[in-house]
Amino acid sequence: MNLSVLKKKILIVVMDGLGDRGCKELDGLTPLQATKTPNLDWFTRNGIAGTCDTVDVGIRPGSDTSHLSILGYDPLEVYTGRGPFEAAGIGLIGKHGDVAFRCNFSTCDNDMNITDRRAGRVDKPDTTELVRSLEGMRIDGIEAIIKEGTEHRAALILRGGGLSPDVTDADSHDNGPIAWSKGRTPEAQFTADVLNKFVKETYKRLKDHPVNERRIAKGLPPANIILPRGAGSFPNIQSFPEKYDMKAACVAGVGMIKGICGVCGLDVIDLPGCCTGGYSSDFVSKAKAAMDTLKEYDFVLMNVKAPDVCGHDGDPKLKCDAIKRLDEMAGYFKNNFREDMVIVFTADHSTPCSLKDHSGDPVPITVYTPGNVRDDAVEFSESGCSHGRIGRIRGKYILPMCMDLADRAEKFGA
Ligand code: ZN
Ligand code: ZN
Repeated sequence: MNLSVLKKKILIVVMDGLGDRGCKELDGLTPLQATKTPNLDWFTRNGIAGTCDTVDVGIRPGSDTSHLSILGYDPLEVYTGRGPFEAAGIGLIGKHGDVAFRCNFSTCDNDMNITDRRAGRVDKPDTTELVRSLEGMRIDGIEAIIKEGTEHRAALILRGGGLSPDVTDADSHDNGPIAWSKGRTPEAQFTADVLNKFVKETYKRLKDHPVNERRIAKGLPPANIILPRGAGSFPNIQSFPEKYDMKAACVAGVGMIKGICGVCGLDVIDLPGCCTGGYSSDFVSKAKAAMDTLKEYDFVLMNVKAPDVCGHDGDPKLKCDAIKRLDEMAGYFKNNFREDMVIVFTADHSTPCSLKDHSGDPVPITVYTPGNVRDDAVEFSESGCSHGRIGRIRGKYILPMCMDLADRAEKFGA
């Protein structure tokens, strides 16, 4: 056994929603097939390639469940709802047993009928001031912790014994918004009770709040009620750095991705304003941030959101343009490559322009490290990568595969 073998670092570049289907506007090609990507192709030609069902065959993944998979967890085992990841994304990281929700500041009339789900896209500093009046809330022995996010968004954590994530979203009904228990368990019914009392209490505290009086005077809809949805419990998972014995970080602009990584125990790196995650985000600066982070860390997950945005907008031309810029980003990685690293280019799911939403189509994956076995794949695309030796894998196997290529996997047996 050679003890002096250097353990390599691992960088996973997740191009969000990159996979697609044939587009009419592109003569039946996918945006990846229709766009020249010399740098991504270089990695594919020199590395190993395949296609990946991030959660499982035929499952349409959310960005949260697919990122859990890519981090080596099985979302079918640990995922209960997106609330905890949204909460963590705005800096509200709870503990096992807490039930978390994502929330909207909304507008309701005097009968608590919802008239605007986003309260006119209310934003900070109004929401910051409003949240202050909701602090210290206790309902039937349960602590309610709420924090504002961007625009009308907020997150809620319910903390205390006997809670369950098996509750519906608080939704409009004749007598105001109501959440129901999904299960018949006493815990689910208790949680729905607490949640309904919470919603009523937010209305009581917010309706005559000075911020809302100001908003009404200006002709804006008051943010006078909080609507929680997406209940989920914080998963009881082994932290990533412990599980894989790697110092790990994430470089991402989107709150929910930061949240997932935060819940898994990765350090979330603060990015300059150019890398916020929108379409106009500067990919090369983000790549540089990822390479800088890799100096201090063994593992970095980087997420680039732009292709997903183009897919949701149903704009194949714009997606091609995003891909061109992603290829420039890949060029930066090529030119600044560290010999002691394993790099992965993949997506968390497909977001076909024709569907304007996520699909279960497998995504391309290319892995490169000096000295790997070259295979027959030469082009980075949905079809091109299918010629490679990775074959078709599930997302949760990406990390074990990288651990082996990075000489970090332990021998099984004698
Ligand atoms: Zn995504
Ligand atoms: Zn999406």
